[in-house]
Amino acid sequence: MPLLVMKFGGTSVADLERIRNAAQKVRAEVARGYDVIVIVSAMSGKTNELVGWVNETSPLYDAREYDAVVSSGENVTAGLMALTLQEMDVPARSWQGWQVPIQTTSAHGAARFVDIPRANLDAKFAEGFRVAVIAGFQGVSAEGRITTLGRGGSDTTAVAFAAAFGAERCDIYTDVDGIYTTDPRITSKARKLDRISFEEMLELASLGAKVLQTRSVELAMRYKVRLRVLSSFDETDEMSGTLVCDEDEIMESRVVSGVAYSREEAKLTLVTVEDRPGIAAAIFGPLAEAGVNVDMIVQNISEKAQGHDRPVTDMTFSCPVEQVARARKALEAARDTGAIRYDGLEVDEDAAKVSVVGIGMRSHAGVAARMFSALAEEGVNIKVIATSEIKISVLIDRKYMELAVQALHDAFDLDKTG
Ligand code: ASP
Ligand code: MG
Repeated sequence: MPLLVMKFGGTSVADLERIRNAAQKVRAEVARGYDVIVIVSAMSGKTNELVGWVNETSPLYDAREYDAVVSSGENVTAGLMALTLQEMDVPARSWQGWQVPIQTTSAHGAARFVDIPRANLDAKFAEGFRVAVIAGFQGVSAEGRITTLGRGGSDTTAVAFAAAFGAERCDIYTDVDGIYTTDPRITSKARKLDRISFEEMLELASLGAKVLQTRSVELAMRYKVRLRVLSSFDETDEMSGTLVCDEDEIMESRVVSGVAYSREEAKLTLVTVEDRPGIAAAIFGPLAEAGVNVDMIVQNISEKAQGHDRPVTDMTFSCPVEQVARARKALEAARDTGAIRYDGLEVDEDAAKVSVVGIGMRSHAGVAARMFSALAEEGVNIKVIATSEIKISVLIDRKYMELAVQALHDAFDLDKTG
């Protein structure tokens, strides 16, 4: 029988009534002839509560026990979902990660899949069960301990099962009805996309992060698992939501698919560092070790170059505002050891990043020019620019972020997408 994976996030299983609502969607697919693997999250808020309990009990907790505690929310919803389906006369059985068994690495709190053997579930389907309900977010290590996959990991569980069982599709039921051209809270002109490519979805992660764990999209891209994002609160059919798929499946040609943003960015400039081979490695090595996520980088002629007997340059980069203190510490430490020399560190904590994303950029020239003139018309000054094959990002003053998103959404006619 054809197989579907259906994943329900925390808000979709937040109480017994919502579990019943989700179960009805599962029953409808069974009635259409599908066997279904259901992946559930914990009830919304539950995992946060469990994490809080662990921290309160033991601030420097043993990660194995952290996983034992925080994985438990999914055990409850998996069992309740199986019971609810049974009450609806749908033959269903629940499975915790170790029962499948979902084999993972031993990196507690951030485990990765090693293997998902099919035998146990296949045997159950062969007995006539139509639904296997799997506790998301968890697995078991080679040592036999329970592991978890990192926050938001149930999405990744869903994609991994879809890949392992060759599912026709992986439906991610959540509290939004799809992926939008931009954040609808910033412009009411935002449109829901019918389809988006894996690559664009990864680049739009800042919009989609709340919807899909990034790793689940990477996995879906690697195994070509068609993902659909849709709302469990709406009436849904085969056309609902947004399909995240291979670009070959996307017929319409759009140059830009979406405008993404990241509000809390900082711009740091090291003034007059030596201009010599190895200087970038000497700066960004320690930053990486300190866990600073450096994003855009520009090397510039220094205004203060005069008076230096050796060649100097300014090095500018961006990172999340919350990492500024860490970055400063790492750079000062590198200066103290003599690994780098600089005259000053300028920090601008009032920046934001706005990006336009689209696979159409590969074959269309002029996207950057259109982007920059749209920003110029609004009087928005660009501090740093970075590009990749399918994305152009600019760093700007945070106070213009909304304005910039709206202007770019208009400039690329995204209100006419859909
Ligand atoms: N319940 C877990 C979390 O809140 C996993 C998930 O829902 O995806 O992070
Ligand atoms: Mg989630």
